[in-house]
Formats: sequence, structure tokens, C-alpha cells
Amino acid sequence: EAERAPEIDYVFKIVVVGDSAVGKTQILGRFARDEFYFDSKSTIGVEFQTRTITINRKRIKAQIWDTAGQERYRAVTSAYYRGALGAMLVYDITRRQTFDHVVRWLEELRAHADNSIVVMLLGNKADLAGKRAVSREDAVEFAEEQGLFFSETSALSGDNVESAFLMLLEEIHGVVS
Ligand code: GDP
Repeated sequence: EAERAPEIDYVFKIVVVGDSAVGKTQILGRFARDEFYFDSKSTIGVEFQTRTITINRKRIKAQIWDTAGQERYRAVTSAYYRGALGAMLVYDITRRQTFDHVVRWLEELRAHADNSIVVMLLGNKADLAGKRAVSREDAVEFAEEQGLFFSETSALSGDNVESAFLMLLEEIHGVVS
């Protein structure tokens, strides 16, 4: 009730989707705690993590959901998507297949999530530039076609993770306020 959490104006649910091992858990950890875990799957079983930020003097609690290893195509249940205002759709820039599967994840989002959901495409593992298998240009073009926001991130170095979440949260704030 209000007495318990007087400081929160909005709670925004955000889901993180994409193929296995693209870095979803690490990206979430980076934003929620600003840490990188070398033993990645230690967070299994945690349904979501939160971080509270301020946008236009409003206190916004981002409630960010991880698939916790259930990301096999169509295994993610509709409960996962229910009420989500934003999605981070992640692929790995070093594995072309994870980018080719982005269209499937968009279908999933369109089938299960609200029509007004704000989607941001993230090309993760940008620190592994020497192993790049998806060009930035291809991703930018695809994102423009599909009306998605786009950024390349590294959960390992932290590059662009914070700014990507802030962009998504600001956009959602613009939609709901
Ligand atoms: P998930 O299955 O999508 O949740 O992927 P994880 O977050 O578990 O990451 C899968 C593997 O990729 C782990 O070994 C991570 O340490 C590694 N990883 C995640 N993000 C990055 C990154 O930005 N750069 C590099 N080099 N490795 C990463």
C-alpha cells in the first residue's frame, strides 16, 4: 500500500527474450546490479529483478523478467508476457542464427504481449568484435523495418546496457503518461 512504498510512481514490467546463451541473464544482472557474473546460471530460479530510476521526477520501478532457461521456442508461457510494457529482444553478434531467430521472437511477442509493447533489439557481446557474424548495418536496417529500437551492448564490459534500458524506460514512460 501507499505507506509501504510512497516513492514509486510507476512499475514497468519488462521481459527479456532471445535465444539461449545470448547473454539475457548477464544483461539483466548488469542493469539491475551493475555486475557481471562469470558463473552465469547462478541466477536460475529468480523470476525478476528490479531497479528504480527517476524520469521527469517520477520514480519508476523497472521489474525485469528473465526466462531462467525456459527460452526454447514456444516454451515461454503467456504469463511471462502478461502485462509487459517493454521487451529487450537479444541476439549474439557472434552467432548469426540468434539474429535469424529474432523474427520468431517478434512473432511470440506479437502473439502473447500487448500491442503497445515497446521492443528494443539488442546485439549483445559487442566486445567480441573479432568474431562478429552480424553486421551493425543489417541489424539497423532490420530494426528500422520492424519499428524497433536498437543498440549493440556488452554485458561483459557494460557498454550501452544502461543507456539501452534508459531509452526503453523513457519510451514506455512516454507511452503511459
Ligand atoms: P542467456 O542464456 O541468454 O541468459 O545467456 P547468459 O547471460 O547466461 O550468457 C551466456 C554466456 O555468454 C555466458 O557464458 C556469459 O558469460 C556470456 N556472455 C554474456 N554476455 C556477454 C558479453 O557481453 N560478452 C561476452 N564476451 N560474453 C558474454
